[in-house]
Amino acid sequence: MTTTAALIVAAGRGLRAGGGVPKQWRDLCGQSVLARTVAAFSAHPVIDQIVLVLHQDDLHLWTDTSITVVTGGETRQASVVAGLDAVTAERVLIHDAARPLVSCAVIDRVCKALDAFAGAAPALPVTDALWRGDEMVTGIQDRDGLFRAQTPQGFHTSVIRAAHASHALPAADDVSVARAAGLDVAIVAGDEDNLKITHASDFARAERLLGMRMDIRLGNGYDVHRFGPGDHVMLCGVKVPHGRGLQGHSDADVGMHAVTDAIYGALAQGDIGVHFPPSDPQWKGAKSHIFLRHAVTLATDMGYAISNVDCTLVCEYPKVGPHQPAMRAAMASIMGLAADRVSVKATTSERLGFTGREEGIAALATATLVKT
Ligand code: MG
Repeated sequence: MTTTAALIVAAGRGLRAGGGVPKQWRDLCGQSVLARTVAAFSAHPVIDQIVLVLHQDDLHLWTDTSITVVTGGETRQASVVAGLDAVTAERVLIHDAARPLVSCAVIDRVCKALDAFAGAAPALPVTDALWRGDEMVTGIQDRDGLFRAQTPQGFHTSVIRAAHASHALPAADDVSVARAAGLDVAIVAGDEDNLKITHASDFARAERLLGMRMDIRLGNGYDVHRFGPGDHVMLCGVKVPHGRGLQGHSDADVGMHAVTDAIYGALAQGDIGVHFPPSDPQWKGAKSHIFLRHAVTLATDMGYAISNVDCTLVCEYPKVGPHQPAMRAAMASIMGLAADRVSVKATTSERLGFTGREEGIAALATATLVKT
């Protein structure tokens, strides 16, 4: 099998997009531009290796040790050369870090064209009329045969490495380096969404495009535990003194169970009973944070971030209000969320029903998960 690397060039200092940091480090819907760009390639089955070229001053900002990080040079071309030195795959796709919305289809088209050509790159035909001018139109430029170039620009690694080695002058991109070395470069269909983030308006457009793609999931959870002998209850991770305890196979934290089931529900992955069967003695008396932590890890593994959870406890006593801040903090800590994304509230049931008769406590919860 042919091996393919993605070489992501992220050593630029471009500040034109605003925000005070180079654009590749700016947040784009909850992840840095660069993290999204890397994820686009790491998710593609054809990519065997990712080489990331960073500016000397930014090396500490990248913490994922699973990909190769190289220090860039003075120019983009020097950075590409440094990155090519670290490529071990037979083919390389050289990509701008500022194009985080590159699709699998574009990557596929470049790879397929490399079966027949030394180089291939995506581009879009120019469809707008082209004018020359300053404040006034001074001429018309024929747009026939003109393309807007995109990345990734793909090459057989050995030939682009040799082309860069023999190319002394600054180059607009890697296709121009390849052409100067006499290589054939095929044009494959680009994608309007594969935009290069340069200005603040590009961020706004990228956010709109991501917003349309965003996968948002809701889940609900409901749990009840019966009162029995005891001197406290565990509610949302907090030990609350009470004249009775809650009965259950685990520590009977009814609120945390409802939240955990809401997360499993959003993922369509069953409930606590599926993952931690009551018939299994190892979960007897288990701390409920084990269940919640498992649900959060499952969400992360499936590519979801928890946006918020909301839990309602239904009981006459104990009074929940004084413990709410501690409950929110405890659950936020277990889930790795900010406390302002975790709500705990309580209601009585007006002395009606089993909760009204103080036979037990019920809890309802909702969780919102967003694909990252
Ligand atoms: Mg339960």
